[in-house]
Amino acid sequence: MSSQIVPLIIIGVSVLFILGIKFLSSPKTARTGNLVAAAGMFIALCALLKTDGSSVWSHGWTFNYTLIVIGTVIGLIIGAIGAYSVKMTSMPQMVALFNGLGGGAAALVASLEFLKDAHGAEPVTAFITVPMLFATLIGSLSFSGSIIAYLKLEGKFEKPHTFPGQNILNGLIWLVILGLGGWLTFNATGGNAVTAFIAMFALALFFGIAMVMPIGGADMPVVISLLNSFTGLAVAADGFAIHNNAMIVAGTLVGSSGTLLTLLMCKAMNRPVTNVLFGAFGSSGGATAAASGIAGTVKPIQADEVALLLAYAQRVVIVPGYGMAVAQAQHSVRELSDELGKRGVEVQFAIHPVAGRMPGHMNVLLAEANVPYDQLIEMEAINPSMDRVDVCLVIGANDVVNPAAREDKASPIYGMPIIEADRCKTVIVMKRSMAAGFAGIENHLFYKDNTRMLFGDAKASLNALVAAVKAS
Ligand code: NDP
Repeated sequence: MSSQIVPLIIIGVSVLFILGIKFLSSPKTARTGNLVAAAGMFIALCALLKTDGSSVWSHGWTFNYTLIVIGTVIGLIIGAIGAYSVKMTSMPQMVALFNGLGGGAAALVASLEFLKDAHGAEPVTAFITVPMLFATLIGSLSFSGSIIAYLKLEGKFEKPHTFPGQNILNGLIWLVILGLGGWLTFNATGGNAVTAFIAMFALALFFGIAMVMPIGGADMPVVISLLNSFTGLAVAADGFAIHNNAMIVAGTLVGSSGTLLTLLMCKAMNRPVTNVLFGAFGSSGGATAAASGIAGTVKPIQADEVALLLAYAQRVVIVPGYGMAVAQAQHSVRELSDELGKRGVEVQFAIHPVAGRMPGHMNVLLAEANVPYDQLIEMEAINPSMDRVDVCLVIGANDVVNPAAREDKASPIYGMPIIEADRCKTVIVMKRSMAAGFAGIENHLFYKDNTRMLFGDAKASLNALVAAVKAS
């Protein structure tokens, strides 16, 4: 392909990437968005492979097409098997793994470039060296940090691992890394440069581990989003180092959207990013009702009583949460919603932005169960009408409906926007026990006069409800 038209193609590809992200912002168009962005990436790859076997990159690499094809086929097979076999609840782990591999690849590209130049006779300018060092540093810490995030999400060393002076030690490691990077910027060739570079690479890998270990397992989606933006920035820096515009555009888009997503998630939890990174959230146990001074008693209810309430209600709102994902109860929820719909009950789903353990978790699960999109109502849109809801079914959700966020100034979640389930006429909370949710705190909702607790696994309880509604 002629190198003159490559820049034009890359502009077209950039438009596809941006459209892809735009489509991803709604569940209705998200699949199309994914395909559009993937098509953009495919076109970019084809455009950058010159048919005469030489490189369109100015750095003098030539392509080994056999290796490229082998690598692509292996990647496709692993990616397809992973994507088809992963459970919806394990999606955050998969994102962590893919992100880590992206960061690692970006670091390796930059490292190879750096080491090639370091062995050359020509002096290298800081303009070229800085992006390489940046990509190596950010890419490798994103790699090791994402692997730790993956392991934490898998339930290995889930709790925050902290020790006194940890932040100071991490700060010192960071300073050494910056010192090495600063020195390498002006001394990028020769044996000492190679040694210093390897030391910086190793320290960056270690820093990724040290940065993520103190963070609680349930904060991992925020961390992954942040590491995702790091990977994007590393790829963009690679683009500068090897003069590849497609990488600059794609990397910048990933970097900026990852940063925005991180900030949005923190805003929805009413916590600053610094609290997520350095706050070791989730290390303290849950408070008891008495200790929290909550008035009221817990009132259990049986499935057949709930079925009667539902069958004679006019408007029902379902609030899904992490427990629904764990129980894989989305199909049973859909069945219940359909059954109620047949009886003329208006059913809506109230979606909290951080319900579950990853952004859009509830949208993805409910879309998988074919719940119509127009039944999914965002928190801000549904809250004003909650007092006109006859029955609110809270399914495996806890923190996102905790009125302590409004009522208790001493609560760690005070100020977090919640779905105001407590304002509905009757609230049915479906969970297995009185155990706390992610934030580790008691929920005031469970003790309210209008709340009843339907204890049990969400899927089993929902199946019992469907049967009871059908029989009523
Ligand atoms: P929570 O973690 O607050 O609560 C989930 C509840 O589900 C638990 O109380 C648990 O109670 C119940 N549960 C677990 N398994 C089952 C089951 N099989 N059947 C029925 N119930 C079950 O979840 P929410 O969705 O309400 O809130 C999400 C939390 O995660 C928020 O604090 C949010 O800030 C945080 N978070 C979310 C992120 C995101 O991107 N979505 C990112 C980072 C953090 P029990 O054990 O008694 O059954």
